[in-house]
Amino acid sequence: MSFDFTDYDPYDFANRRHIGPSPAEMGAMLALLGADSLDAFIDETVPASIRQKEPLEWGAAMTERQALDALRETANRNQNLVSLLGQGYYGTITPPVIQRNILENPAWYTAYTPYQPEISQGRLEALLNFQTMVSDLTGLDVANASLLDEATAAAEAMAMAQRLSKSKRTVFFVDENCHAQTIAVIRTRAEPLGWRVEIGDPFADLRPEKVFGAIFQYPGTYGHVRDFTEVIASLHGENALAVMAADPLSLALLKTPGEMNADIAVGSTQRFGVPMGYGGPHAAYMAVKDAHKRAMPGRLVGVSVDARGNRAYRLALQTREQHIRREKATSNICTAQVLLAVMAAMYVVFHGPEGLRAIAQRVHRRAVLLANGLKKLGYTVEPDAFFDTMTVEVGRLQGAILKSAVADGVNLRKVGTDRIGISIDERTRPVTIEAVWRAFGGEFKVEEFDTEYRLPEPLLRKTDYLTHPVFHMNRAESEMTRYIRRLADRDLALDRSMIPLGSCTMKLNATAEMLPITWPEYAELHPFVPQDQALGYKALIADLSDKLCQITGYDAVSMQPNSGAQGEYAGLLTIRAYHQANGEDHRDICLIPTSAHGTNPASAQMAGMKVVVVKSDENGDIDVDDFRAKAEAHAANLAACMITYPSTHGVFEASVAELCAIVHEHGGQVYLDGANMNALVGLARPGDFGADVSHLNLHKTFCIPHGGGGPGMGPIGVKAHLAPYLPGHPATGGSEGPVSAAPFGSPSILPISWSYCLMMGGAGLTQATKVAILNANYIAKRLEDAYPVLYKARNGRVAHECIVDTRILQETAGVSVDDVAKRLIDCGFHAPTMSWPVAGTLMIEPTESETKAELDRFCDAMLAIREEARAIEEGRIDAQNNPLKNAPHTVEDLVGEWDRPYTREQACYPPGAFRVDKYWAPVNRVDNVYGDRHLVCSCPPVEDYQEAAE
Ligand SMILES: *Cc1c(COP(=O)(O)O)cnc(C)c1O
Repeated sequence: MSFDFTDYDPYDFANRRHIGPSPAEMGAMLALLGADSLDAFIDETVPASIRQKEPLEWGAAMTERQALDALRETANRNQNLVSLLGQGYYGTITPPVIQRNILENPAWYTAYTPYQPEISQGRLEALLNFQTMVSDLTGLDVANASLLDEATAAAEAMAMAQRLSKSKRTVFFVDENCHAQTIAVIRTRAEPLGWRVEIGDPFADLRPEKVFGAIFQYPGTYGHVRDFTEVIASLHGENALAVMAADPLSLALLKTPGEMNADIAVGSTQRFGVPMGYGGPHAAYMAVKDAHKRAMPGRLVGVSVDARGNRAYRLALQTREQHIRREKATSNICTAQVLLAVMAAMYVVFHGPEGLRAIAQRVHRRAVLLANGLKKLGYTVEPDAFFDTMTVEVGRLQGAILKSAVADGVNLRKVGTDRIGISIDERTRPVTIEAVWRAFGGEFKVEEFDTEYRLPEPLLRKTDYLTHPVFHMNRAESEMTRYIRRLADRDLALDRSMIPLGSCTMKLNATAEMLPITWPEYAELHPFVPQDQALGYKALIADLSDKLCQITGYDAVSMQPNSGAQGEYAGLLTIRAYHQANGEDHRDICLIPTSAHGTNPASAQMAGMKVVVVKSDENGDIDVDDFRAKAEAHAANLAACMITYPSTHGVFEASVAELCAIVHEHGGQVYLDGANMNALVGLARPGDFGADVSHLNLHKTFCIPHGGGGPGMGPIGVKAHLAPYLPGHPATGGSEGPVSAAPFGSPSILPISWSYCLMMGGAGLTQATKVAILNANYIAKRLEDAYPVLYKARNGRVAHECIVDTRILQETAGVSVDDVAKRLIDCGFHAPTMSWPVAGTLMIEPTESETKAELDRFCDAMLAIREEARAIEEGRIDAQNNPLKNAPHTVEDLVGEWDRPYTREQACYPPGAFRVDKYWAPVNRVDNVYGDRHLVCSCPPVEDYQEAAE
């Protein structure tokens, strides 16, 4: 008798997990494309001139278990002490119901930015809760839906103050009590714009007539709680603006920035249930007076109505954004911190105002308790009035005390050479307070001390906050679970269907990649712990950086930028510093093609560069002659060019090496926007074909989920000559200033990209690229008879995405690209990227993760939409009353009278839609114009809900 051993390996997930099409499916797709093999197809598609010589190789792909073991071993090298280091980062307790049902739930973390409001009502409501919470706590009128971190939010506030003050003054005053990283990021932002930063004591050094604005930290980095009302009045007397960086937890007890008449408040909502993560990601906030809302950067959720007049949410005042305003945009921010804003908002829903007040009081009481013990030991504790943070004068004992605290498992903050700082948070337990006393030489028990309020009476908060019903719901966990579930169910994320967004690379975010991010050894580290406590992170960052260098052909990587746009800004600053070091300060011209992503010109402006626009030819390629002519014309002052490769039109341009050479010839540097790396990994390396610096969107190509609009990571890779000019940081050194609050941006999501690389191996990553290109070409082929596919390369191939032209439907049937996008919702899909880079078109990027069946479902839907338009063209259905114009269809449409010239069946079950698992849009088409005319950016009062329900 003989056994027939199978050679099927059930644990070989490398292909099965990440790459959608099976070998048989790929065979069928290649046949449709008339290609003999995947490699032959790739050879036809990717120009030989840019192909890399050596394959990407770093050993065998790991199985999921091996990768998780490696992540575990690395985690074990991080030491997770109790950190009372403050400075904008605090221990916090993530309510498990939020951790499991939001942070660890693909319905939330795989969603895209809510540009299609009908399929985003859940996260839009959560973000509206966030905005309401922020505006309530700060006492200001309008809050946005998050910024990248507190320091960049402060820098944005400075830029906003400058725009609003309309004065010729160029000085911005910064409170010396601001966190060090906030001061440093503000300095970085001010320098290229020609503004001067003056640092000092607001009560002694501020001369309002000399500045366009000022920022104060509240409470200060050393704990001071002071009333800025008079200082702010003096600023207003001179038409200067006042910004307050305020800790939102303290605002549960303290007089608000609004009551002090601040114009802008910024801060971090990290301590609302978002782990420190060695620096991020967390959501920063910005709130402003009503008069300033149109000048505010970042996304803003507003309330509008749908086609039935029912309440619906959507992004408001979109025209402020870089996609439209380009170099005149209020800022370059694109990806922000939606998932973390959702968590913070839910934390506040979970605790309500009474919970928040209790947490703030508990933190304050414990801080007072600690201070009382230290006083009994004979130490001087400052300041007199504090919320959660104090400093202690220790003289020469500093080193010894810090050391013995660490030995007892507690990190305290080194302040100068003779003080120690301590910040209490909601996790601080009595045993920790006793350990701190021990480090200072005292053997006390907390029971031995009384606590009292140490906040000055005039600074106590007397106004209400969080009065909206959502903050007063019954918070039994069953209700919380269902609320979170209800919101998630309103949205369409990757856990339901493909999201074929060109340029956004919405690929699989594998579960195994996601597991480590909530392990405490990654999640709970403070960004400023002694470096020997973060050796795991150090190793992970070093290895991931090394792999990214191998992938891109660059020599060094900075992990600091928190988004692609922030990477662009960082990369351009690196170029700027390089020119300055070469004595070429005058180089400030940046060539940018018309087709560039809106963040490119917005970032160039922030880096102090002047944008010169280069034309595209009729193929969508950069017009090489125009490019050369402009490079020559500006040769003396050429700083850089920004190009995207493959082009934003989804084409491998053969001319890319030539463009790089032209820029170099005229003394400029090449910034290559790496958002499209998903078409290159393993096949071609920007560093080889002439680029000097690129950002990589780890939240696109490297599997970090999009989170509904963030978090992201936009590290930059550079050639060796630029390496000395990469961003530095007060905590880690370097000659240049930082672009983010934390030295490594948002490190706690780096395990995702690292485990992706480990589990794919170099060969797996290369295969992913090939299949991404195959999938895009398959869609282009299936759709090309129905819709013109714009911009193919010579041999008729596209790269990893394709643009289909829906403008023909507008001409023949009055069907707009919007109609197509909304009808796709009925079919159960998120629309592709709309009207970018070409107005009236759809840009489709399927990624390698989608199976042939899913691609076919999408193509079937698109083809059926073409036929529906044909019915209009041929007069078989009314041009206004038809499935396209009425899309998306809701359950509301089906109840009651049905008087439309098409059936309910046609309305709700077009090709693509699942019968049993049908996705029902919760609202009909949302009216954007109405919402911008009647701007409401916080939760509407309950009566309104009742009205809408009636
Ligand atoms: C996504 C994208 C960016 C911006 O990245 P963010 O992380 O959203 O800031 C820049 N350029 C291109 C081509 C992109 O697709």
